[in-house]
Amino acid sequence: MSSIDHLFDNNKKWAQEITEQEPDFFQQLSQQQTPEYLWIGCSDSRVPANELLGMKPGEVFVHRNIANQVIHTDLNCLSVIQYAVEVLKVKHVIVCGHYGCGGVHASADDNSYGLIDNWLRHIQDVYRFHKDKLDAETDHGKRMNLLCELNVIEQVNNVCNTTIIRNAREAGQDITVHGFVYNLADGILKDLKVSV
Ligand SMILES: [Zn+2]
Repeated sequence: MSSIDHLFDNNKKWAQEITEQEPDFFQQLSQQQTPEYLWIGCSDSRVPANELLGMKPGEVFVHRNIANQVIHTDLNCLSVIQYAVEVLKVKHVIVCGHYGCGGVHASADDNSYGLIDNWLRHIQDVYRFHKDKLDAETDHGKRMNLLCELNVIEQVNNVCNTTIIRNAREAGQDITVHGFVYNLADGILKDLKVSV
């Protein structure tokens, strides 16, 4: 038995359970997807979009990268936003960070992690934008939590400033951009109340 055989066993059980509850679930879903939500979150394995929202396949369109970044030159993220907004017509874009984010923490220490240092540089920019506020927090843990929140808020701004969202707004499309932060320690999502 190979080391990944259990993945296929798990998958069969999962598909079976859903089919028992809703016999034509997969058949219907295979025809089309109509998610109302676009989730832009961290790649961290502890922050799974569908599960923590209690949502089934088909209900949330997902993009994840390290430290939930929305960078104006990242064609991958921009393509996801464009497709979600213009084709799927999602009603909500959620940027979700999390406390204890390895990417956010790594951006604030002096170690080198290789290629990813270039990616994390964007979070160092967030630090620079909010340096006074962050430096005023003397407790390291609280300062990092604040940086996780400020990072989400900056990415919400970045989403709003894309031509995709601007064009959608001008065309009168109903769409709201939200900033959430997830607590690994209790599984609870917090709304940063920066919805635009
Ligand atoms: Zn993270």
